Amino acid sequence: MRLKKKRKRVKMQVKILFNSGSIEESLSIGWGVSFLIGDSVLFDTGEKGPSLLNNTKEMKIDLSLIQDVVISHDHWDHTGGLWDILKQRQDINVYACPGFSNEFKRKVESSNNHLVENRDFMEISKDIYVTGEIRGEYQGGDIFEQAVVVDGDKGLTVITGCAHPGIVKILDLVRKEFPARPFYAVFGGFHLMNQHPRNIHSIIDVFKDLGVKKAGPTHCSGTEAENVFREEYGNNFISTKIGEAVSI
Ligand SMILES: [Zn+2]
Ligand SMILES: [Zn+2]
Repeated sequence: MRLKKKRKRVKMQVKILFNSGSIEESLSIGWGVSFLIGDSVLFDTGEKGPSLLNNTKEMKIDLSLIQDVVISHDHWDHTGGLWDILKQRQDINVYACPGFSNEFKRKVESSNNHLVENRDFMEISKDIYVTGEIRGEYQGGDIFEQAVVVDGDKGLTVITGCAHPGIVKILDLVRKEFPARPFYAVFGGFHLMNQHPRNIHSIIDVFKDLGVKKAGPTHCSGTEAENVFREEYGNNFISTKIGEAVSI
Protein backbone atom coordinates (compact mmCIF):
# COMPACT_ATOMS: atom_id res chain seq x y z
CA MET A 1 0.00 0.00 0.00
CA ARG A 2 1.23 3.43 -0.86
CA LEU A 3 0.70 6.20 1.67
CA LYS A 4 0.12 9.66 0.31
CA LYS A 5 2.94 11.84 1.51
CA LYS A 6 1.98 15.10 3.17
CA ARG A 7 4.55 17.76 2.55
CA LYS A 8 6.46 18.39 5.76
CA ARG A 9 6.81 22.04 6.62
CA VAL A 10 9.28 23.60 8.99
CA LYS A 11 8.65 23.99 12.71
CA MET A 12 10.89 26.48 14.38
CA GLN A 13 11.31 29.25 16.87
CA VAL A 14 11.86 32.90 16.25
CA LYS A 15 14.01 34.38 19.00
CA ILE A 16 13.81 38.06 19.84
CA LEU A 17 17.40 39.37 19.95
CA PHE A 18 16.73 43.10 20.13
CA ASN A 19 13.85 45.43 20.97
CA SER A 20 12.95 48.17 23.47
CA GLY A 21 12.07 45.75 26.27
CA SER A 22 13.64 42.58 27.65
CA ILE A 23 12.84 39.77 30.06
CA GLU A 24 16.14 40.17 31.92
CA GLU A 25 18.32 43.08 32.97
CA SER A 26 21.47 41.56 31.50
CA LEU A 27 19.99 41.96 27.99
CA SER A 28 20.66 45.29 26.23
CA ILE A 29 17.58 47.19 25.13
CA GLY A 30 17.34 50.05 22.63
CA TRP A 31 15.58 51.24 19.50
CA GLY A 32 15.09 48.84 16.61
CA VAL A 33 14.44 45.13 16.25
CA SER A 34 16.32 41.92 15.55
CA PHE A 35 14.92 38.41 15.17
CA LEU A 36 16.66 35.06 14.75
CA ILE A 37 14.54 32.73 12.60
CA GLY A 38 15.50 29.14 13.35
CA ASP A 39 19.27 29.00 13.78
CA SER A 40 20.47 30.37 10.49
CA VAL A 41 18.43 33.39 9.36
CA LEU A 42 18.87 36.75 11.06
CA PHE A 43 16.28 39.43 10.31
CA ASP A 44 17.36 43.00 11.12
CA THR A 45 20.07 43.87 13.61
CA GLY A 46 18.80 46.63 15.92
CA GLU A 47 20.58 49.93 16.51
CA LYS A 48 24.09 48.85 17.51
CA GLY A 49 26.56 46.01 17.37
CA PRO A 50 27.70 45.80 21.01
CA SER A 51 24.06 45.48 22.19
CA LEU A 52 23.28 42.76 19.66
CA LEU A 53 26.48 40.87 20.47
CA ASN A 54 25.77 41.13 24.20
CA ASN A 55 22.30 39.69 23.69
CA THR A 56 23.42 36.84 21.44
CA LYS A 57 26.07 35.96 24.04
CA GLU A 58 23.59 36.11 26.94
CA MET A 59 21.09 34.02 24.97
CA LYS A 60 23.80 31.51 23.95
CA ILE A 61 23.20 32.04 20.24
CA ASP A 62 25.80 30.41 18.00
CA LEU A 63 26.62 33.12 15.48
CA SER A 64 28.60 30.67 13.35
CA LEU A 65 25.30 29.03 12.31
CA ILE A 66 23.99 32.20 10.66
CA GLN A 67 23.90 31.79 6.88
CA ASP A 68 21.56 34.58 5.80
CA VAL A 69 20.90 38.08 7.07
CA VAL A 70 17.81 39.87 5.80
CA ILE A 71 17.65 43.63 6.30
CA SER A 72 14.12 45.03 6.16
CA HIS A 73 15.06 48.59 5.24
CA ASP A 74 17.98 50.95 5.30
CA HIS A 75 17.33 52.71 8.61
CA TRP A 76 19.92 52.85 11.43
CA ASP A 77 17.67 51.09 13.93
CA HIS A 78 17.59 48.00 11.66
CA THR A 79 21.09 48.04 10.16
CA GLY A 80 23.13 49.22 13.19
CA GLY A 81 24.21 45.78 14.45
CA LEU A 82 24.96 44.37 11.00
CA TRP A 83 28.56 45.56 10.72
CA ASP A 84 29.78 43.80 13.86
CA ILE A 85 28.16 40.56 12.63
CA LEU A 86 29.80 40.90 9.19
CA LYS A 87 33.21 41.49 10.80
CA GLN A 88 32.94 38.13 12.57
CA ARG A 89 31.67 36.13 9.60
CA GLN A 90 32.40 35.47 5.96
CA ASP A 91 30.43 34.13 3.02
CA ILE A 92 27.03 34.84 4.48
CA ASN A 93 24.29 36.29 2.27
CA VAL A 94 22.98 39.74 3.10
CA TYR A 95 19.58 40.30 1.48
CA ALA A 96 18.94 43.95 0.66
CA CYS A 97 16.44 45.83 -1.50
CA PRO A 98 17.88 47.41 -4.67
CA GLY A 99 16.63 50.77 -3.35
CA PHE A 100 18.93 50.76 -0.31
CA SER A 101 21.66 53.44 -0.20
CA ASN A 102 24.92 52.99 -2.08
CA GLU A 103 26.72 53.47 1.21
CA PHE A 104 24.93 50.44 2.67
CA LYS A 105 25.75 48.30 -0.38
CA ARG A 106 29.40 49.41 -0.42
CA LYS A 107 29.81 48.54 3.25
CA VAL A 108 28.41 45.03 2.76
CA GLU A 109 30.51 44.48 -0.35
CA SER A 110 33.68 45.57 1.42
CA SER A 111 33.15 42.85 4.04
CA ASN A 112 33.88 39.20 3.23
CA ASN A 113 30.19 38.51 2.66
CA HIS A 114 27.73 38.54 -0.25
CA LEU A 115 25.28 41.29 -1.04
CA VAL A 116 22.07 39.91 -2.59
CA GLU A 117 19.75 42.56 -4.00
CA ASN A 118 16.31 41.08 -4.41
CA ARG A 119 13.44 42.83 -6.12
CA ASP A 120 11.11 39.81 -6.12
CA PHE A 121 9.52 37.39 -3.72
CA MET A 122 11.89 34.47 -3.24
CA GLU A 123 12.74 31.51 -1.03
CA ILE A 124 16.08 31.97 0.73
CA SER A 125 16.10 28.83 2.89
CA LYS A 126 13.66 25.92 3.23
CA ASP A 127 10.17 27.46 3.67
CA ILE A 128 11.66 30.89 4.51
CA TYR A 129 10.95 33.68 2.01
CA VAL A 130 11.65 37.36 1.52
CA THR A 131 8.94 39.54 -0.01
CA GLY A 132 11.41 41.49 -2.13
CA GLU A 133 11.30 45.23 -2.46
CA ILE A 134 8.09 47.06 -1.56
CA ARG A 135 7.96 50.82 -1.96
CA GLY A 136 6.73 53.05 0.83
CA GLU A 137 6.87 56.71 1.72
CA TYR A 138 8.96 58.19 4.48
CA GLN A 139 9.41 61.88 5.28
CA GLY A 140 8.38 62.95 1.80
CA GLY A 141 10.66 60.50 -0.03
CA ASP A 142 10.72 56.85 -1.05
CA ILE A 143 11.63 54.06 1.33
CA PHE A 144 12.17 50.48 0.17
CA GLU A 145 11.38 47.64 2.50
CA GLN A 146 11.01 43.86 2.57
CA ALA A 147 9.52 41.46 5.11
CA VAL A 148 10.19 37.80 5.90
CA VAL A 149 7.58 35.07 5.46
CA VAL A 150 7.83 31.57 6.91
CA ASP A 151 5.50 28.95 5.45
CA GLY A 152 5.58 26.82 8.57
CA ASP A 153 3.76 23.87 10.01
CA LYS A 154 1.11 26.12 11.63
CA GLY A 155 0.61 28.35 8.59
CA LEU A 156 2.14 31.56 7.32
CA THR A 157 4.13 33.79 9.65
CA VAL A 158 5.02 37.30 8.52
CA ILE A 159 7.74 39.25 10.34
CA THR A 160 8.15 42.96 9.63
CA GLY A 161 10.83 45.56 10.36
CA CYS A 162 8.94 48.89 10.34
CA ALA A 163 6.28 48.17 7.66
CA HIS A 164 6.73 51.67 6.18
CA PRO A 165 4.89 50.61 2.96
CA GLY A 166 1.91 49.64 5.16
CA ILE A 167 1.24 46.42 7.03
CA VAL A 168 -1.92 45.76 4.97
CA LYS A 169 -0.02 46.17 1.69
CA ILE A 170 2.56 43.65 2.90
CA LEU A 171 -0.10 41.12 3.95
CA ASP A 172 -1.93 41.53 0.62
CA LEU A 173 1.27 40.67 -1.21
CA VAL A 174 1.81 37.56 0.94
CA ARG A 175 -1.82 36.50 0.35
CA LYS A 176 -1.22 36.65 -3.42
CA GLU A 177 1.90 34.50 -3.14
CA PHE A 178 0.18 31.86 -0.99
CA PRO A 179 -3.51 31.92 -1.94
CA ALA A 180 -4.24 28.54 -0.34
CA ARG A 181 -2.26 28.75 2.90
CA PRO A 182 -3.70 29.95 6.23
CA PHE A 183 -2.10 32.83 8.08
CA TYR A 184 -0.73 31.99 11.52
CA ALA A 185 1.20 34.93 13.02
CA VAL A 186 2.19 38.48 12.12
CA PHE A 187 4.64 40.41 14.28
CA GLY A 188 7.23 43.19 14.19
CA GLY A 189 6.97 46.92 13.53
CA PHE A 190 3.60 47.92 12.03
CA HIS A 191 4.35 51.66 11.85
CA LEU A 192 1.07 52.84 13.35
CA MET A 193 2.29 55.64 15.61
CA ASN A 194 -0.13 58.57 15.80
CA GLN A 195 -2.83 56.64 13.96
CA HIS A 196 -6.43 57.27 14.90
CA PRO A 197 -7.88 54.30 16.87
CA ARG A 198 -10.44 53.96 14.05
CA ASN A 199 -7.63 53.16 11.60
CA ILE A 200 -6.08 50.69 14.01
CA HIS A 201 -9.42 48.90 14.32
CA SER A 202 -9.84 48.72 10.55
CA ILE A 203 -6.37 47.16 10.29
CA ILE A 204 -7.35 44.58 12.91
CA ASP A 205 -10.45 43.85 10.78
CA VAL A 206 -8.12 43.04 7.86
CA PHE A 207 -6.06 40.76 10.13
CA LYS A 208 -9.22 38.92 11.18
CA ASP A 209 -10.52 38.68 7.58
CA LEU A 210 -7.21 37.10 6.58
CA GLY A 211 -7.52 34.69 9.51
CA VAL A 212 -4.34 35.85 11.30
CA LYS A 213 -4.37 33.84 14.55
CA LYS A 214 -1.66 35.67 16.49
CA ALA A 215 -0.38 39.22 16.26
CA GLY A 216 2.52 41.07 17.87
CA PRO A 217 2.87 44.75 16.98
CA THR A 218 5.99 46.27 18.54
CA HIS A 219 8.71 48.88 17.90
CA CYS A 220 7.22 51.68 15.72
CA SER A 221 3.68 50.31 16.07
CA GLY A 222 3.04 52.74 18.91
CA THR A 223 1.50 52.21 22.35
CA GLU A 224 -2.04 52.83 21.15
CA ALA A 225 -1.86 50.11 18.48
CA GLU A 226 -0.16 47.71 20.88
CA ASN A 227 -2.95 48.22 23.42
CA VAL A 228 -5.76 47.80 20.89
CA PHE A 229 -4.18 44.65 19.42
CA ARG A 230 -3.59 43.29 22.94
CA GLU A 231 -7.26 43.81 23.78
CA GLU A 232 -8.47 42.24 20.53
CA TYR A 233 -6.09 39.30 20.46
CA GLY A 234 -6.05 38.48 24.20
CA ASN A 235 -4.04 35.31 24.75
CA ASN A 236 -3.05 35.34 21.09
CA PHE A 237 -1.16 38.62 21.44
CA ILE A 238 2.52 37.91 20.82
CA SER A 239 4.94 39.46 23.27
CA THR A 240 8.27 40.33 21.66
CA LYS A 241 10.65 41.21 24.48
CA ILE A 242 14.34 40.35 24.06
CA GLY A 243 14.89 36.85 25.39
CA GLU A 244 11.46 35.60 24.34
CA ALA A 245 10.79 33.15 21.50
CA VAL A 246 7.80 32.63 19.25
CA SER A 247 7.05 29.06 18.11
CA ILE A 248 5.90 28.99 14.52
ZN1 LIG B 1 12.39 51.08 12.83
ZN1 LIG C 1 12.19 52.69 9.62
